Amino acid sequence: MNTKTNKGTCLAVDLGGTKLLIGEVDSGGQLLRSKKYKTGYLTQTEGTKVIFEALDDYIAAVGWINERPGYMGMGMIGQVDYINANWLMIDPSRKENIPIGSLIKDKYHFDIRIENDVKAATLAEKAFGTGKADKDFIYLNIGTGIAAGFIADGRLLRGWENDSGEIGHIVVDIDSDVECECGRLGCLEAIASGRGMYKRALGLREKHPDSQLFNFNEDDISAKKIITAAGAGDTLASKIADEAAAAITCGIMNLIRVTNPERIILGGGVMADGWMYRQILDRIGKKELGTVKKGIVLSELNPGTVGIIGAAAVGFGFC
Ligand SMILES: [Zn+2]
Repeated sequence: MNTKTNKGTCLAVDLGGTKLLIGEVDSGGQLLRSKKYKTGYLTQTEGTKVIFEALDDYIAAVGWINERPGYMGMGMIGQVDYINANWLMIDPSRKENIPIGSLIKDKYHFDIRIENDVKAATLAEKAFGTGKADKDFIYLNIGTGIAAGFIADGRLLRGWENDSGEIGHIVVDIDSDVECECGRLGCLEAIASGRGMYKRALGLREKHPDSQLFNFNEDDISAKKIITAAGAGDTLASKIADEAAAAITCGIMNLIRVTNPERIILGGGVMADGWMYRQILDRIGKKELGTVKKGIVLSELNPGTVGIIGAAAVGFGFC
């Protein structure tokens, strides 16, 4: 085997809920080339098989830019043991302990580092994004689900099981009757995530049968469609979107009190069209905002590639 490697690039793998992206990223955070692979609702064993098949294809069909990359990093959905490079679970119903790092090392001879996908995106902000010069910031990903990454005193906060940042399950309304998958009422994720808003629309259908949301197929109701319908004055959509905005704002105001960040960086699909961002800025308390000296900002990294850039940040060893 040719052991000459390119220390300037990282082979990066981003395994999300619906897609797998493999690519080569340089040390400045530029994605040089990549290929997308389809995934779906998979167990970890199935997901591991998909990763290996995709890596085989990538290496054969796309190949290296120059020499073999000197680093490899992976961002993965679910919980990981980043020290031993084990993939611990996707969610409580899909829980296996897969030594993905050593499996990859045995087959492809890469020393790989792995991290949870939202923590990887947080490291992308720290290494290559808006948080580059910040010692203390919070990255919030508000998409299908909700989670956060905390950089405090320049370091990523992980927790003893590397399970910090699951802020989707902080309660933002103690009087809420909105049930969360975790069993509590009033969790941020149940009210304000893409999946949460979708489930609320279906749950409130009987009370609002005339809502324009039900002009769509059930499966096509998304956060984006709810926000658009809210803008057009739809009563149900306005209720869901307004309550989501209030919940996110409350969550942010709480988090500001926890780690005293100098900046909050917002990313994820629910933030994408700018409506939710404006709502948050209109609602946030001046007192809370006043302590965040660099403000609440939208991520400047491409939402389609922040995951793979983050995987590279992990591979290069930023933390
Ligand atoms: Zn919950």
